[in-house]
Amino acid sequence: MSDVKQRVRQRVQQWVRPEIQALSAYHVPPASGMVKLDAMENPYHWPEAMVDEWLQVLREVQVNRYPDPTAHELKEDLKLLMGVDPAHEVVLGNGSDELIQIMAMALAQPGRTVLAPEPSFVMYRMIATFCGMEYRGVPLAEDFALDLDATLQAIEETQAALVFLAQPNNPTGNLFDLDSVRQVCAATPGLVVIDEAYMAFTDRHHLNLMDEFDNVVVMRTLSKMGLAGLRLGMLFGAKAWLDEFEKVRLPYNINVLTEASAKFALNHFDVMKAQTEELRKNRTELLAALQALPFAKVWPSEANFILARTQSGLARGLFEQLKDAGILIKCLDGAHPQLQDCLRFTVGTSDENRLLLQALHSAMDV
Ligand SMILES: *Cc1c(COP(=O)(O)O)cnc(C)c1O
Repeated sequence: MSDVKQRVRQRVQQWVRPEIQALSAYHVPPASGMVKLDAMENPYHWPEAMVDEWLQVLREVQVNRYPDPTAHELKEDLKLLMGVDPAHEVVLGNGSDELIQIMAMALAQPGRTVLAPEPSFVMYRMIATFCGMEYRGVPLAEDFALDLDATLQAIEETQAALVFLAQPNNPTGNLFDLDSVRQVCAATPGLVVIDEAYMAFTDRHHLNLMDEFDNVVVMRTLSKMGLAGLRLGMLFGAKAWLDEFEKVRLPYNINVLTEASAKFALNHFDVMKAQTEELRKNRTELLAALQALPFAKVWPSEANFILARTQSGLARGLFEQLKDAGILIKCLDGAHPQLQDCLRFTVGTSDENRLLLQALHSAMDV
């Protein structure tokens, strides 16, 4: 190695925080040309005429100007469409990932703890680490139900500053018992974030918890509804909390193309709604078909993905066989002890699901 390279390496090792050096970067596998059923994207695009109309809107966008930092209209549209009490505030994020980061930055202090059930969304732990906070994962119980006693005990022990409950939970697809969720909110000294990334695929929503508790906010995103590429997440909550988060948000985190496109898409919410309804139907069919295959377990889902456990030791091989057949899913074996032998299938179009099932049939030799 050249002298300079070696000195760079040493300097990095000396100065970058050890907990950051110990992380591995969020890995996104290449998917070009594959049937992509790994990332909970909506597989449908818009009708041709709607795309034309959208391009007309983009034509008018002034990319030479900074975005409107308040995005007032977009926020009002979101509140209206999502049935949010007009008294509540909205903070927009570059995806809800950024909102997780904003809340963690606002609450971080040495010794403070981020707490979440596990297995759940990995960014909770990662962002806690980025922000120099402690992290406590509380193992889920049988069939991924919330372990209420263990959770309440961990909240008490850590005096949790920030609790994340993904509802439905990723990657398990289930909802936690609502009374348990309430008890977690009541017991948490800090802030509870209900992460409703999959709100389009379930009938249970939690906005009313914000009226019941002074420490609850609700986070949503357009990603799983059909606009993952736009990067628009939203946080709803009481003004007092959100005014503080607004200070931490970088002023131009939502770019002009995202703002204009999101406004346009919300004017055509019926299209997204019809697509997610279709995916809910496809989910029912895919679940039944997966349950008929020789998996050890296939869990029902309130989200746009289905978790399944293969017979012992077969998950990675099956994942590779599907990949060779041009189908990309998510292999969760090794990601968490409770996800041993687990695979996660994003619900696709009926054609995509048919291809997946054909490949599974041939790989599982049935
Ligand atoms: C996908 C996902 C997110 C992130 O969504 P973005 O808005 O695309 O950043 C947040 N929470 C959960 C539980 C998710 O599965």
